[in-house]
Amino acid sequence: MRKQIVAGNWKMNNDYVDSELFVSKLLKELKHTTTEVIIAPPFTSLLASSNSVKGSQVIVAAQNMHFAENGAYTGEVSAAMLKSVGVKTVILGHSERRAYFNESDDLLAKKVNTALAHGMRSIFCFGEELEDRKSGNEEAIVGAQIKNALFHLPAAAWEHIVLAYEPVWAIGTGETASPEQAQDMHAFIRETVAKKYSKKLAEDVSILYGGSVKPANAKEIFSKPDVDGGLIGGAALDVEQFLAIINAF
Ligand code: PEP
Repeated sequence: MRKQIVAGNWKMNNDYVDSELFVSKLLKELKHTTTEVIIAPPFTSLLASSNSVKGSQVIVAAQNMHFAENGAYTGEVSAAMLKSVGVKTVILGHSERRAYFNESDDLLAKKVNTALAHGMRSIFCFGEELEDRKSGNEEAIVGAQIKNALFHLPAAAWEHIVLAYEPVWAIGTGETASPEQAQDMHAFIRETVAKKYSKKLAEDVSILYGGSVKPANAKEIFSKPDVDGGLIGGAALDVEQFLAIINAF
């Protein structure tokens, strides 16, 4: 079922102590909301954060995981390891993983499969580069990213998939897609999913927008009919800003 979601991706920020302080402040100030609130701390804070949010409406997600079950993959973390610390949601395919760690659509398809095999939910990120948009190729790029990594899935798997459209040119740059650009792309994404599966399935998928969402622009972006929330980077590191974005719904 389609949900409104605000997810904070902390990236490589907040050590164990900072994470605990953030979570306790968030829990103290968060008013009951029907919006799903997700935080994605670094691996070193997952256990503590996941213990601290128990009994609250906040969900803890991981920022990445490996596709293999276990083995000789130095530095990597598996789905079972995430589940062992209470984490059942994982961000996959963030543009920084794609750009700095060479994560391809094929690799991401394997990670999505592993997450599903473990009953985990994937927040699957994708988006075009600036050159793609300048040359009018943004829909072709986005369509291919979704198709390559997700269209092998059976329809039933989609209840464990959240999509996050994040134009690379808008991430951490202060440059946001206009609410109309976000809506146009989200409508295209929903139509692409509908064509492959069904209108009903596409209507049920939550599609988040990510890219320099701040308290000042969240309300307008979230008001668009195909935008179901946001994946937030910079502004999710500040409790007050994160809360203001959650409250923008
Ligand atoms: C992100 O990293 O997913 C992101 C959207 O970052 P920012 O909000 O800082 O642009």
